[in-house]
Amino acid sequence: MSKQASVITEAKNFKAVNLGSWKELAGYELGQMKGKIFLKELLGLTGAEISFGVIPAGVAGPFFHDHKQNEEIYIVLHGQGQMQLGDTVFDLQEGTAVRVSPGIMRNLKNTGNTELAYMVIQTKADSLTQWTMTDGVISQDTAAHWTK
Ligand code: ZN
Repeated sequence: MSKQASVITEAKNFKAVNLGSWKELAGYELGQMKGKIFLKELLGLTGAEISFGVIPAGVAGPFFHDHKQNEEIYIVLHGQGQMQLGDTVFDLQEGTAVRVSPGIMRNLKNTGNTELAYMVIQTKADSLTQWTMTDGVISQDTAAHWTK
């Protein structure tokens, strides 16, 4: 049975969950995908799909895949591996970030001797029209309510 994320708090404009540490990601499963959890349904995401995955040492992802219209950003959180994009193969390690546009088959392989943990952000290619300084709004008067 799949591990379940725990809800921390939820309201109209937000929802917070605890997924556990990257080591605990191995306990999630979705169908035949073990060590994988998606956040769209869990958090009610509307502009991106985000997933976390863990691949055991020496193992490759179960399939190569592409996306029709979504760009993916892979961010390695722990371990070492390789990514294959079309015919290109390169090494990954903690801190590696990779953008993959639609139109190319992709997969990951754990080439290290510990778990390969990674995050994937999936968003519609060419959909970003505002970011950071053009979209952010800094408050001048919000009262802080920290408890620690
Ligand atoms: Zn994908």
